[in-house]
Amino acid sequence: MRKPTCTFDRSRAIGFRLLFAAILLPGAAHADWITRAEAIMGTRCAVELWAEDPVKGEAAITSVFDDMKRIDRLMSTWKEDTEISLVNREGGKHPVKISKELFSLLQVSVQYSELTHGAFDITYASVGYLYDFKKGIHPDSAAIAKALPGINWRHMVLDEKKTTVFFTRPGMRIDLGGIAKGYSVDRGIEILQKQGVTRAMVNAGGDTRIIGDRFGKPWVVGVRDPDHEGKVFLRLPLTDTAFSTSGDYERYFDEDGKRFHHIIDPKTGDSARKCRSVTIISGNATRTDALTKSVFVMGPEEGIDFINTLPDVDAVAVAPDGRVIYSKGLAPPG
Ligand code: ADP
Ligand code: MG
Repeated sequence: MRKPTCTFDRSRAIGFRLLFAAILLPGAAHADWITRAEAIMGTRCAVELWAEDPVKGEAAITSVFDDMKRIDRLMSTWKEDTEISLVNREGGKHPVKISKELFSLLQVSVQYSELTHGAFDITYASVGYLYDFKKGIHPDSAAIAKALPGINWRHMVLDEKKTTVFFTRPGMRIDLGGIAKGYSVDRGIEILQKQGVTRAMVNAGGDTRIIGDRFGKPWVVGVRDPDHEGKVFLRLPLTDTAFSTSGDYERYFDEDGKRFHHIIDPKTGDSARKCRSVTIISGNATRTDALTKSVFVMGPEEGIDFINTLPDVDAVAVAPDGRVIYSKGLAPPG
């Protein structure tokens, strides 16, 4: 009797084993770029990272989004039960005790008010809350005049020992919409770094921070044309940096040829109209977030002159007539 050769059986067995491995381990771990986006803090938030282990990479992204949700529960003025809403309800009556984290961000906000001579000012909300961009509502000049004395960061008293905040003017309000997303992006990067991630981009609305490169290549980000959503007028190759863009096309309505939008000039309580968009590049996203509003309010010339005094910052501003103004570090040669 012919003895069956074992070659056939063995190869079949190997085949089965491979088949089982494929069934049991679909998409068995291999290093790759992974991306996820979620709506948090009233905007689109996204994380892209290089993951040696995709399961760990996905978990890292989840922890970033969880932290953004936590920040939103602390700092949103859209929700009644946040610390910031409590401050806005009670802060004019007595000092309100707040968490160390919120207190620190209020201190950072004050530093930016001082640096920008009040162009950035979270008390803008004393007037800002009278606008509803979805419903097309803006305050009239009498309502602005009445609420305007509430805008001034110097009337927000911060007691570091007690971690309390107190408003010395009636009707004062604060809103961290111009800095909290940048802060949450910085936190996100920290969270990823603690989990060993070395190449990533974290984004929340107009605020983004990048760590590492794309294996010898930079990350390339686009700055959109203020008038055309799909059109990019500038591409920036970036590594290990943060950048933010603020535009008058994000939350706005037009009335009698005038645009009302979400960046408010603290001096007038009206929308700032000297810029169409401002992009800032610097080391962290809290800084780039705060500085976009500042340049927007100052206007392109004064704003870019101001940026040129800060050695760690670059900027691009678009004027209402379409002119693009660059800071020293980005200016085209010639
Ligand atoms: P995004 O939320 O998409 O990142 P921005 O960074 O442009 O948008 O921030 C706009 C927000 O900044 C406004 O919705 C408002 O909450 C806040 N803000 C508006 N004017 C000022 C100002 N002068 N100083 C500080 N914050 C401001
Ligand atoms: Mg922002």
